[in-house]
Amino acid sequence: MSGKKYLNEIIQQIPPSGIRKYFDLASQMEGVVSLGVGEPDFETPWHIREEAIYAIKSGKTFYTSNVGLPQLRKEICNYYRRRFNVSYKWDKECMVTVGGSEAIDIVMRTILNPGDEVILLQPGYVAYEPLVRLAGGVPVIIELKEENKFKLTAEELQSAISDKTKMLFINFPGNPTGGSMSREDYEKIVPIIKQHDFVVLTDEIYAELSYGNEFCTIASFEEIKEQVIIINGFSKAYSMTGWRVGYLLADEEIIKSMNKIHQYCIMCPSTISQYAAVEAAAHGDADCKLHHDSFEGRRNFIVNGLNRIGLKCHMPEGAFYVFPSIKSTGLTSDEFCEQLLNTEKVAVVPGTAFGGCGEGYIRISYAYSIDEIKEALTRIERFLNSLKK
Ligand code: PMP
Repeated sequence: MSGKKYLNEIIQQIPPSGIRKYFDLASQMEGVVSLGVGEPDFETPWHIREEAIYAIKSGKTFYTSNVGLPQLRKEICNYYRRRFNVSYKWDKECMVTVGGSEAIDIVMRTILNPGDEVILLQPGYVAYEPLVRLAGGVPVIIELKEENKFKLTAEELQSAISDKTKMLFINFPGNPTGGSMSREDYEKIVPIIKQHDFVVLTDEIYAELSYGNEFCTIASFEEIKEQVIIINGFSKAYSMTGWRVGYLLADEEIIKSMNKIHQYCIMCPSTISQYAAVEAAAHGDADCKLHHDSFEGRRNFIVNGLNRIGLKCHMPEGAFYVFPSIKSTGLTSDEFCEQLLNTEKVAVVPGTAFGGCGEGYIRISYAYSIDEIKEALTRIERFLNSLKK
């Protein structure tokens, strides 16, 4: 008997995440070096963990307000002002979510009417397109180019806009390419956004992992701030993936409406995790810096290593992924990943998991120790040499 007949049409058309496929295969093999997962390898700093322990000991075991603990919303808004120079009102323009993941879903369900178009940038994070479709939206894809360092250009944006455009969804620094936008880059697209008056959803989860240039949020352009919804969270900056705390910053009316969905299906994120997050937002800047510097060193190491062994790889300006081209091997991304896993036991993710234009690329996460990265490079080099024979 199959329950398939009961499923709705949209869910039947959505494929499972292309990232998981290789982890599932790899988890059944011995001696695999996996550079697949997009999560920091640090344990959460102790002063943050201690706040959670203290919250449990002092009986903080009840629901919080739907939009999250007041202290947490205050600290989140302080953090954005301190770090990125944009101001939001903690009591009206901020809400706490179960990771950035919940935030993406409730934005879509709050903003989209069936048939509305959402401009998505690909290669892009795996959750975006399915969540747009589940909310009845229609994805319009812009294929970002390696020669533009995977940034969004004004020409690309202009050509994707129609009279059905409701939202532009951006993610800089981006997963999987590490592409970043500077203030000067944004200056070229902001007038177009203002003219067409659609929503800009900006996923800033990798803001703290910007190398070289300072991170710039598009919300810092006052002329379009009302159009902007920010998603961010604690997972990547503070190494808190398992705590499941994220947040949204936006116009008061949008926050109020998003909270209607959140209060019915979530109630509130874990109270204990929220207390830990207060500590992170208030006193975690040094942790972010430490993680940032460590990742920057690993980025330089892996990019140099990949170019040395013959996989052309641009230097990403953020996040903890590299996105080298494998076109020189003549293999498809899927063939490359499958053969690399089977012959050398290295797990990486095919570029196609992030959209069709990821063909010819692979995503490697460098949120692993230098020893693991070294070992993976040795194995990948051996694999490349075997292809030449
Ligand atoms: N956005 C991007 C771009 C991500 O890479 C991730 C996690 N891989 C998320 C959002 C979701 O993270 P979380 O739900 O842990 O905040």
